[in-house]
Amino acid sequence: MATALVWFKRDLRIHDHAPLAAAAAFERVLAVYVIEPAWLASPEFDPQHLEFALGCLVELRAGLAARGLPLAVRVGEVRAVFDELQREAGFDHLLSHEETGPGWSYARDRAVADWCRARGVAWDEFPQHGVVRRLLRRTGWAARWQQRMDTAEHPIPAAFRGATVALADLPTLADLSLAPHGRSLQPAGERAGLAVLDSFLAERGGPYRRAISSPLTAESGSSRLSPYLAFGALSLRRAHQASAAEIRCRRAGDAADRAFAYGLAGFSSRLRWHCHFMQKLESEPEIEFRNFSRAHDGLREPHFDRARFDAWCAGQTGYPMVDACMLQLRATGWLNFRMRAMLVSFAAYHLWLHWREPGLFLARQFLDFEAGIHWSQMQMQSGTTGINTLRVYSPTKQALDHDPEGVYIRRWIPALARVPLGYLARPWTMPVEIQRAAGCMIGRDYPAPVVDEATSVKAAKNALYGLRRQTAAREEAAAIVDKHGSRKSGLPNTTPGQPAQRTRPPRGVDTDGVQRELFDF
Ligand SMILES: Cc1cc2nc3c(=O)[nH]c(=O)nc-3n(C[C@H](O)[C@H](O)[C@H](O)COP(=O)(O)OP(=O)(O)OC[C@H]3O[C@@H](n4cnc5c(N)ncnc54)[C@H](O)[C@@H]3O)c2cc1C
Repeated sequence: MATALVWFKRDLRIHDHAPLAAAAAFERVLAVYVIEPAWLASPEFDPQHLEFALGCLVELRAGLAARGLPLAVRVGEVRAVFDELQREAGFDHLLSHEETGPGWSYARDRAVADWCRARGVAWDEFPQHGVVRRLLRRTGWAARWQQRMDTAEHPIPAAFRGATVALADLPTLADLSLAPHGRSLQPAGERAGLAVLDSFLAERGGPYRRAISSPLTAESGSSRLSPYLAFGALSLRRAHQASAAEIRCRRAGDAADRAFAYGLAGFSSRLRWHCHFMQKLESEPEIEFRNFSRAHDGLREPHFDRARFDAWCAGQTGYPMVDACMLQLRATGWLNFRMRAMLVSFAAYHLWLHWREPGLFLARQFLDFEAGIHWSQMQMQSGTTGINTLRVYSPTKQALDHDPEGVYIRRWIPALARVPLGYLARPWTMPVEIQRAAGCMIGRDYPAPVVDEATSVKAAKNALYGLRRQTAAREEAAAIVDKHGSRKSGLPNTTPGQPAQRTRPPRGVDTDGVQRELFDF
């Protein structure tokens, strides 16, 4: 009797699930999610990730049970769990999504492939979004992405012929000896992901392009879909097709609708970025560990200053916008794109820290940690891709532009609550009598700046631009563009039925040119 095991990984949903749809054709079906010690021990892992996964699994288990498919959730090394399931029920097919994850998951997948070969189990892997496995050339990638995203969703099978396996309650963090993480997270699960998508498309998405820059407005003005996409509780195709449908509908409406559609089109392009950046890790898994541009090897690595790093992690750099962002991130597991970029720019240029350790720290803080996006962005914002413009964010300018009333800084740094607005972005410039009146003595109640901005940024730029002028670095840059760079002219519009050109803003509507420019790499 042909029996399939559906292996749930970063795809914790029922809708648009290729392995589940394929499993419906089998005479018997098993399903498993494995909590892997290698994941729990990995340097990117934080208990918040498991809590979110467990929340998704509660709903997934109920949804599958209603269709006659029991979901086993086991703790252990994947091959050992598969051996158990072989003994309990037996299976000759393994069905899963392709995964573009950190090095440990890549090594595990290779071990599973060997296991399947040795046991005579056929392993079918299905693409989950726009990432192309064994991609030979980047040219034409965007058209393939579009074609995949426009294809109809996989149907949800009404019922399975589920096999009997031992089912235990889901473990808790305490069962796995994991400490509570203390954050208040977005609600987990497929239903929550679909509801967040609906509320964004129907109500919140119009001002997207204006709202995403400030940490104050981005909290509700960006989609907040990232954890659902990262854990696969929401299919990227569903997000793409639902937003395309909403855009089409609103474009046919009045001026307000057309402006709303323009906001959604900005969001829609981010869904392509998701895969564009993940493709880099898929095509070159080493970029998780080493510089894209080898000419940059050794530039920062030997100078890693642990005290600076600790101050950055603790939100104690003395630069209020940096510290407030870090404190928000540590408390909530989320931060908007621009402020993530500013945190990394500060670590890379002001503090001259190599990206790997800051990247691991941030991976643990981000509920939505997605290795392909994360490591590409870490390197891009640190200037080690060798090809994109160096983007050095001034924390003072970011505070003035995106927190002009000081609401955000005061919210996250109580020590600065009574500092006058004129000094809030640069509190070290306060005369002593004003420090006293504000109840904030610099160096006692709030740190003095960990580095001097002007001298540290100048030194960083000199080092990086000096390196880029060297012939070897320039030659290497051409090869990096060829392998990883976007092919702008080939990018179709993300909305089906629209001509292949950039979306133009309706009159009087802000553009997000700076954000779009970030797609260059
Ligand atoms: C240093 C750094 C590290 C990052 N690490 C991650 C990560 O681990 N996981 C992650 O999902 N995003 C990461 N991002 C990208 C981006 O900041 C988040 O996707 C976004 O802030 C999530 O909020 P949202 O879902 O409301 O985004 P929205 O703006 O509503 O975007 C919708 C979706 O598009 C994708 N997306 C948006 N911006 C980008 C981008 N710049 N690159 C690639 N995909 C994008 C995400 O899947 C996101 O959920 C990182 C950015 C930086 C600068």
